Amino acid sequence: MLDRLGRDINYMRISITDRCNLRCRYCMPVEGVSLKEHREILSFEEIETLVRVSTELGIRKIRLTGGEPLIRRNLPDLVHSISRLEAIDDLAITTNGILFPALAAELKAAGLNRVNLSLDTLKNDRYQYITRGGDVSVVIKAMETALAEGLHPVKVNTVLIKGFNDDEILDFCRLAYNLPLHIRFIEFMPVGEVKYWNQDRIIKNSKVYETIGRHFSLKPGRISRGNGPAKYFEMEGGQGSVGFISPMSNHFCGECNRLRLTADGKLRACLYDGKERDLKEALRGKEPEESLKQIFMETILAKPERHAMGDKAWGARNRKMYQIGG
Ligand code: SAM
Ligand code: SF4
Repeated sequence: MLDRLGRDINYMRISITDRCNLRCRYCMPVEGVSLKEHREILSFEEIETLVRVSTELGIRKIRLTGGEPLIRRNLPDLVHSISRLEAIDDLAITTNGILFPALAAELKAAGLNRVNLSLDTLKNDRYQYITRGGDVSVVIKAMETALAEGLHPVKVNTVLIKGFNDDEILDFCRLAYNLPLHIRFIEFMPVGEVKYWNQDRIIKNSKVYETIGRHFSLKPGRISRGNGPAKYFEMEGGQGSVGFISPMSNHFCGECNRLRLTADGKLRACLYDGKERDLKEALRGKEPEESLKQIFMETILAKPERHAMGDKAWGARNRKMYQIGG
């Protein structure tokens, strides 16, 4: 379905939990995380119903995220129930990868098409620091497993933070040079734990591009499956690619094709816009599917033209990334 600006809204990101097995410093505090109770979180059956209704309005691509989606018990059942819907032509997951090696084969068999793994550093001491306790070797294993399972294109999300990992840009490029991985450098955004965020820690992707260009010959590339705002470049002679996601320096709202469903059943047209509609209430109120459709339609039509992240009060006002779904 087209929104009022003519954008074709065909992609929905679904947060299936607000819980996580890591505590990345820029995303979640160690304590004081107000988690939703079980009954407040959508069940798998409810998610399946909402996906089915959304397909009637043109949604064709689904991404499961969180919090950490792999901690949700029996996840392959949900993957199976979504992947068998005929209208869905792409089903992906964004994960920190910690539980991925053990679950990959089952997820693939259930119909998962591909995976994005989040990894900000290749050094274990830094990984332990930023995630507050994770083991980087498990995420490396997750990348290898994703490649071995053929979950292509395997993408890696790397948030660059000045003074933390900006000296690893070329190490990530070498990884994408040697393996068919697509490393996406993401500009650090004032979402999540905004106390950790600081304007001075943002590294503009134009700078990253310059740095890489001094060592690799880059040419614009494309990825077979991709729904997002990343701009990709191939490295001459390399197997994978590097991508840039630049919400801070170059907003991509004009091309945004997505909706977001939170773990507690709220529908949003924009990560950065506080307006939400309650689909869970409509579902549990036994309202006819028409009313769900109506909510989807109204949300699409009310999709803002662009985000308001430049607004100073925004970070504190908005819900956290692990609550909305990153
Ligand atoms: N737990 C899963 C994971 O880490 O991949 C899925 C949810 S996580 C919120 C999704 C993505 O959002 C991760 O790649 C994470 O690095 C990114 N993210 C979280 N906070 C961010 C921020 N302040 N700026 C940029 N990206 C952020
Ligand atoms: Fe968890 Fe992902 Fe947030 Fe890290 S970025 S705390 S892994 S939800």
